[in-house]
Amino acid sequence: MSAEPEDTPETRRARLILGLRSQGVSDPAVLTAFERTPRELFTPDLFQERAWEDSALPIACGQTISQPFIVGLMTQALTLEPRSRVLEIGTGSGYQTAILSKLARLVYTMERYRTLLGEAEARFRQLELGNVITRFSDGARGWPEQAPFDRILVTAAAPGEPTELLSQLKPSGVLVAPIGRGPVQTLKRYAGDGRGGFREEILCEVRFVPLLEGVAQEL
Ligand code: SAH
Repeated sequence: MSAEPEDTPETRRARLILGLRSQGVSDPAVLTAFERTPRELFTPDLFQERAWEDSALPIACGQTISQPFIVGLMTQALTLEPRSRVLEIGTGSGYQTAILSKLARLVYTMERYRTLLGEAEARFRQLELGNVITRFSDGARGWPEQAPFDRILVTAAAPGEPTELLSQLKPSGVLVAPIGRGPVQTLKRYAGDGRGGFREEILCEVRFVPLLEGVAQEL
């Protein structure tokens, strides 16, 4: 389903959303969030033509804006509720953050590149997303001052079980993260059992940039 040059952005968006649904992103609230979030705003100028393709694209600082299908799958797996307070690790372009902000009460998002965070913040202002709180910091350590969270989403690959982040989750909370050290990782969902334990579920294989330690020294 490649884009034709004469397609309007609306046609491309509608085609992408149909594609997401056919691949199992069926939650109507999640699909509506996609409809209401202009991916072209989060896509670099060089890739504008591809903003509504179902593919990951390069952004500044050697990072990527995630593939829409994976954003849909992860968002759906979080089983958000309108009252949820969510922590997102890896703001990147801010696209996933904007989708979350349509479905949750508050979204806390952390990024280790100042440049990316600044650009994402400008987009949140432009879209008037009043429920997003940003922080330039190492997300692997979470955000203890704001914990516990109802939901945590990690959009960079953690080398192993993210114990520090799991400790910042409510007892019945949900955390979704790509886990693994190699180029291909396993997308996992951890659901709190309400008694301090977690039920672990494997969702699929994914390719994310690594979750790195500390903040970036370069811009
Ligand atoms: N959700 C983003 C995907 C960004 S890619 C989007 O939709 O555009 C992953 C991001 O995680 C990158 O921007 C990277 O800089 C960031 N990241 C990696 N390790 C991090 C860490 N320890 N703390 C905060 N952000 C981190």
